[in-house]
Amino acid sequence: MELTDLVGHRFVTDSREVKPGDVFVAIKGNRVDGHDFVKQALQAGAFAVVVERDLGLPNQLIVPSTVGFLGMYASKILEKFNPKIVGITGSNGKTTTKEIVAEVLSAEIRTFKNEGNLNSEIGLPLSIINSYRGEQIVVLEMAQRNVGDIEYLCKLFPPNIGVLLNVGSAHVGVTGSVNEIFKGKWQIVENSKQALVNFDDERMRCGNCKYFGTKGGDYVLKERTFDGRSTLLTFETIEGEFYYSLPGFWTKAMATSVLVAFAVADMLDILFNPIRLLSFKPLKGRFNIHTCGKAYIIDDTYNASYESFKHGIEEVKEHFPRPAYAVVGAMKELGEYSKHYHEMLSNLLEEVDGVVVYDKEEESKDITPSNLIFRSDKQEEIVEFLKKKILTSEFSGTLYFKASRAVELDKIVNELLENS
Ligand code: ATP
Ligand code: MG
Repeated sequence: MELTDLVGHRFVTDSREVKPGDVFVAIKGNRVDGHDFVKQALQAGAFAVVVERDLGLPNQLIVPSTVGFLGMYASKILEKFNPKIVGITGSNGKTTTKEIVAEVLSAEIRTFKNEGNLNSEIGLPLSIINSYRGEQIVVLEMAQRNVGDIEYLCKLFPPNIGVLLNVGSAHVGVTGSVNEIFKGKWQIVENSKQALVNFDDERMRCGNCKYFGTKGGDYVLKERTFDGRSTLLTFETIEGEFYYSLPGFWTKAMATSVLVAFAVADMLDILFNPIRLLSFKPLKGRFNIHTCGKAYIIDDTYNASYESFKHGIEEVKEHFPRPAYAVVGAMKELGEYSKHYHEMLSNLLEEVDGVVVYDKEEESKDITPSNLIFRSDKQEEIVEFLKKKILTSEFSGTLYFKASRAVELDKIVNELLENS
C-alpha cells in the first residue's frame, strides 16, 4: 500500500476505536505495542494498517516510524493549504487559550483548532489528518513531556506566531528541572516567525518578541473587574485602551487567554471580534463555579500544579465569600521535587479558612497546613464530612476543589452536586 491509498480515511491509533474503513496506525508506546492489536483492528474493519515491521498483510503500509509518519503526513496536508499557524505552549492554560483564540479568530476567518487536549506528537497529527479542511488559520496546542518536543512540533507545523504562556513546575518530575522545562518551552520562540511571550516573567526576553502581561508589554491586561454579573476587561496597547464586558466570572487565567487572543488577532491583522466569547464557558474542571444552596462550589479538579493552585486560591480569596475551604489532593508527576512543592502548597493553603485533604495518592501526605480540618483516603468519608460539617443549609461560603487528575476529585464534587 502507499500513502495515496489512505487519503480520506480516518486514522486511529487505538484499536478499540477502529470502525470499518479506518486506517489503524500501530504505535509502540512505553506500556503497549500497537502492533499487538493489528489483528483486532482488522477484525473491527480497518481498511489498512500502518506498521513498522512486515506483518505479511496485503493492506499494510510499512514505515520506519509510525509516529514520524503521522507527523510527516499531517505536515504535508498543512503545507498544501499553507495556513497561518498559531502554536501555543506553556505549563498552564494551553487548552483554554487555544479554545479562546480559535473562538475569537473564527468569528472573522475560517479557523481550525486541534481537538480537545490532543496536543502531542501523536494527537496533533491525528487531529489534523482527520479534521483539517483547508481553514486559513490553524491554532495548535503544543505540549512538552521531554525537552525537544516543542522543537519537533514546530518543525512539523511551523508557527507564524508562537505563544509561550508561562513556565512553571507542572510535570517537573518527568521533564527535569524548571530550568529544563523553560529551555524546552523556549524552543517555540526559536522556531516561530514571530513570538508572543509573557512580559510578567523576566526570564522571557528576546529581541523581536511581542509581549502580553499585566505589568507591561505590548498588550496589557490593565484591569479586570467583576460586578456580580459580568467581567469588565481593560486592555492597553500603544493605540490606547480597549474595554470588553463578558458575561459571568472570568478568572485571571481566562482573562489572560482573551488578551492573548487579542494580541494574536492584532499580529495577524485580523479584527478582534469577541462575539463568540459571550457564550463561552470554562472547560470542564477548570474553575467551574456551581452554587449549592447559598454556597459556592468551585470545581478546579481538571489537574493541579503549584502555580495553578496559587492562581485558584488567589481567585477564591479575591472574589468569593468567606469562609472559604479548600478540598485538595496530591499534585502528581513532580518526582524528586514532590515534597518541596507539597510543602509550598501547605503554606499557600494557610490563606483559606480550613483545608480538607483527600489522601488518595501517597504524595498528599506532605500536605500539612496548620488549618487542616479533616483528612481521609476514603471518598465516602470526605463526602460525608463535607455534607455534615460544612455544607449545612446556613453555609454561605465557598468550597474550592483541586488536585491532579489521577486523584479524581471531580467524583466528590459530582456527588455533592448530585445530591444537593
Ligand atoms: P494540560 O497540560 O493538562 O494540557 P493546559 O496547559 O492545557 O493543561 P488548561 O487545561 O487550559 O491548561 O487549564 C488548566 C488549569 O490551569 C486551569 O485550572 C487554570 O485555572 C490553570 N491556569 C491557566 N492559566 C494559568 C496561569 N497563567 N497561571 C496559573 N494557572 C493557570
Ligand atoms: Mg491542555
